[in-house]
Amino acid sequence: MVRSADVVVVGGGIVGCAVVHQLAQLLPPSSRLLLLDRGPIAGATSGSCMGHLMVTPDTPEDYAFTAASLRLWRELHEADPGFDYNPTGALYLADAPEDAELLPVLQQQFAANGDAAQVLDGVQLREIEPGLAKDLPGGLFYPGDGVVLPMLACGAMLRQAQRLNANVTVQPGCPVLGFELAGDRITGVRTPEGVVAAGLVVNATGVWAPEIAQMCGQPRLPIYPRAGNLAITGHHVSPIRTQLLEVSYLRFAHGAAQVDPTATTGDPGGHAVNMQPQTHGGCLIGSTRQFRGMDRTLNPELLRRSLLRAQRYAPGLAQASIVRTWVGLRPYSIDKHPLIGPWPPVRGLWVAAGHEGLGITLAPISGRLLAEQITGRPTTIDASPYLPARFL
Ligand SMILES: Cc1cc2nc3c(=O)[nH]c(=O)nc-3n(C[C@H](O)[C@H](O)[C@H](O)COP(=O)(O)OP(=O)(O)OC[C@H]3O[C@@H](n4cnc5c(N)ncnc54)[C@H](O)[C@@H]3O)c2cc1C
Repeated sequence: MVRSADVVVVGGGIVGCAVVHQLAQLLPPSSRLLLLDRGPIAGATSGSCMGHLMVTPDTPEDYAFTAASLRLWRELHEADPGFDYNPTGALYLADAPEDAELLPVLQQQFAANGDAAQVLDGVQLREIEPGLAKDLPGGLFYPGDGVVLPMLACGAMLRQAQRLNANVTVQPGCPVLGFELAGDRITGVRTPEGVVAAGLVVNATGVWAPEIAQMCGQPRLPIYPRAGNLAITGHHVSPIRTQLLEVSYLRFAHGAAQVDPTATTGDPGGHAVNMQPQTHGGCLIGSTRQFRGMDRTLNPELLRRSLLRAQRYAPGLAQASIVRTWVGLRPYSIDKHPLIGPWPPVRGLWVAAGHEGLGITLAPISGRLLAEQITGRPTTIDASPYLPARFL
């Protein structure tokens, strides 16, 4: 166990791994970086999610944020191709006529950001995806999206970090139990193996970020778990080869929650189809959303409804056996934006958490923004909407 570090990153999910990777690029190679996770790397949400890398064009800020991250994903893949990264593009599917009306709106949003997406009729749709239902009225193809396997991507980020800086230490199986403070300044991290002296700590613990804040004597951060049920088919049976999602997914996933996120009962939950081809030829199917605290038991009825909806679009899925089902917890931030930056009441404490359903997409740019702020550099994009201090 190292006894001191320049920076301790708490949380070895995709966000913590991206923070370490970006810090290794921007800090001198003599800097000692320590990543601690109480479990395995990518053992929590980042190992129980989907891997859609998604450019969202809703606002210029959202577009800049997501598109910048997709560029960093491509750079990572060029530097280390040893993780599943498939630039499949994304097909947005419409079923009901009111959803079909959303397609040109979405196309216009991409165009307003200087990007291009193509509206397709039913015939063109099936030229790209022959496995889709014959009566679908149309869709929209956006070529910029992709799919990754997040667990392998965490490994690639950490490998790269250790190539750049021999002083990067990764320690799974080491819980952070508390912090040492001198007045309002952080001086160390308490673990079962002793105290690690450090003047800079990053809280990248996803749905547990509120607890870490409390360990520093701070109020809970406004991040709440939002459960998602997932299912995966056997290998080599996927009827699709592109990242697919219902266009209504945008309303459902990126809109504000209609229920109280702080409540652990009473949310009936909902679903919108998201289907991802996997490198092994399987199909990952999601995704549901429900607030019910840290409960990770399956909601079979919600999952059943989302699978039937997936079959509506890709009828071949009815014949594909489901080999595994599970639940992941999205870290939902109360204003829908992640928290990336310093937590001013505690000097030396930084946060990178609260990415809800876009944490895989946004991990590289989140790591970059945090590393740029820590090293006093100008930020790649405007970081102010994501500063945690907005909640003070
Ligand atoms: C069903 C589902 C589908 C999704 N699909 C997508 C998608 O297609 N595209 C996309 O971009 N995003 C998607 N997401 C969102 C994405 O998975 C999350 O936003 C992201 O994984 C959050 O990563 P994280 O690193 O913040 O948290 P985590 O991966 O949960 O990592 C936090 C880590 O902190 C550790 N930790 C906690 N407390 C302590 C402690 N005291 N000491 C030490 N370690 C501690 C935990 O062990 C954990 O490993 C999906 C999520 C779900 C649930």
